[in-house]
Amino acid sequence: MSKNPGLTVLAGPTAVGKGTVSTYIRDNYPEVWLSVSATTRPPRPGETEGVHYYFKSPEEFDRLIEQGELLEWAVVHGHNRYGTLRSTVDAAIAEGRSVLLEIDLQGARQVKAAVPDARFVFLAPPSWEEMVRRLVGRGTETPDEQQRRLETAKLELAAEPEFDFTVINDDVRRAADELVSLMGLTPHRS
Ligand code: 5GP
Repeated sequence: MSKNPGLTVLAGPTAVGKGTVSTYIRDNYPEVWLSVSATTRPPRPGETEGVHYYFKSPEEFDRLIEQGELLEWAVVHGHNRYGTLRSTVDAAIAEGRSVLLEIDLQGARQVKAAVPDARFVFLAPPSWEEMVRRLVGRGTETPDEQQRRLETAKLELAAEPEFDFTVINDDVRRAADELVSLMGLTPHRS
């Protein structure tokens, strides 16, 4: 199967650690161009505009949709909207960069419809129990919110066969290295 070498999509269930893997890649693999999404979610402590997200008001996000500036977008966990800025991704691909989108499953399906020859990687938990432990352990969400995220995660786990590759997030560095090698880049350690 020939794949667009430029674009890789990483998706997977809630609390599987997509954010941790992408943070590791941002910090350790400057050769990967990690897309910065737009979101209506307010910043968490320590998050920086333009580094972690572009933080938008609902009205600003509406405008991005109307003007066709989003490659994909979705409401995640029934609350906030998140989307990928088409122009920045197109420019990075045109420059020959290896582009990585870390997005939710609904977004991954939209990218698959728009760019079927992109590379789709499913990040899976070592086990369901481990995923629940990570979700509860994070402690940043209310119990109601945790329950909503678990419901979403169950549905998302069933999507694995839609993806080209599965990477098990048993260890962040190992998973990141495997993802980078699937992208055709050289991992720092084998
Ligand atoms: P968080 O609010 O914890 O930063 O992210 C919540 C979820 O939003 C994660 O599952 C993440 O993958 C997803 N997400 C982040 N950016 C985007 C995006 O641009 N598009 C879509 N569809 N999902 C995104």
